[in-house]
Amino acid sequence: KAKSAGGGCYAAYHPDMLAGLVERLELEADLRVALERGQLQLHYQPTVDLVTSEVIGFEALARWQHPQRGLIPPAEFIPIAEATGLIVPLGRWVLEEACRQAVEWSAQSDGRSVKMAVNVSVRQFDRAELADVVARILAETGMPAAQLCLEMTESVLMTDTDDNLEQLLRLKALGVTLAIDDFGTGYSSLAYLRRFPVDTLKIDRSFVERLGALTDDTALADTIVQLGKSLGMATVAEGIEEFGQLAALREMGCHFAQGYYFSRPVPASEAGALFLGSAPAVAPTATPPVSVE
Ligand code: C2E
Ligand code: MG
Ligand code: MG
Ligand code: MG
Repeated sequence: KAKSAGGGCYAAYHPDMLAGLVERLELEADLRVALERGQLQLHYQPTVDLVTSEVIGFEALARWQHPQRGLIPPAEFIPIAEATGLIVPLGRWVLEEACRQAVEWSAQSDGRSVKMAVNVSVRQFDRAELADVVARILAETGMPAAQLCLEMTESVLMTDTDDNLEQLLRLKALGVTLAIDDFGTGYSSLAYLRRFPVDTLKIDRSFVERLGALTDDTALADTIVQLGKSLGMATVAEGIEEFGQLAALREMGCHFAQGYYFSRPVPASEAGALFLGSAPAVAPTATPPVSVE
């Protein structure tokens, strides 16, 4: 299977390392096939407006149903895609599929527009074509630029700074929204945040976790929300699992949220029903979680 191993010489390594390497090469070859054969899927996790309690859109999250190994999480296959360059066609497919889906839901919803967030790897910035790819996909799918949000980690701001800044400015000029994912876990400085055309900070789940009843450490999450406010950026809290976390974030003035409390990432059919059903994801003041399974 691992044809792409080529003529590499691995004999000097310990057998366990060889096994790990073979496994990785197999996965790489399989991922290539999966992309060609359309075996990847997107699941969608709703984003909730904490002021109106409505689902305003979704984050698209890639899923790989491997024919033998079952569901492989993105934490496993995205790094392989990044290391091999497969992230470029994979990322293009995710963008296309997510935009197509958002346009479809918007059309079915009499007048409401679906916001769609797509994760973009720092590796997709390596070649200076990302803005062209995004422009083409917006045109082909009919997706309004303002409804697309690109999520990237702080590493995009910290590496190849000038090249990446230029690409982000081009993306910004298209009218798309730019978000920093997992904010607070990287090393970006305030100077970088001001210099880059970032619209949204996504507060990493680890800070939201600490808002739970047992620990209740609000300082870090609150600092990020206030930072976003003072820089004129929106804030999205990731990983809300309990009502107490939701209440604390709403109190701080955090505008948007995602998490298992509202819904896990779900297949397109379920996500469509969530949006088109349009019931508030959670009553503005009440405590009981609403099951969306
Ligand atoms: P991310 O972009 O930070 O996505 C959020 C992750 O947290 C998702 O994991 C989601 O399922 C999970 N999550 C959401 N709410 C909760 C919660 O309440 N509790 C807990 N414990 N987890 C929650 P997932 O889908 O496994 O994705 C993991 C990461 O893989 C993503 O993190 C993103 O960095 C990457 N990824 C996924 N799809 C893509 C893609 O299409 N392209 C790229 N470049 N990366 C992707
Ligand atoms: Mg994300
Ligand atoms: Mg995140
Ligand atoms: Mg993450």
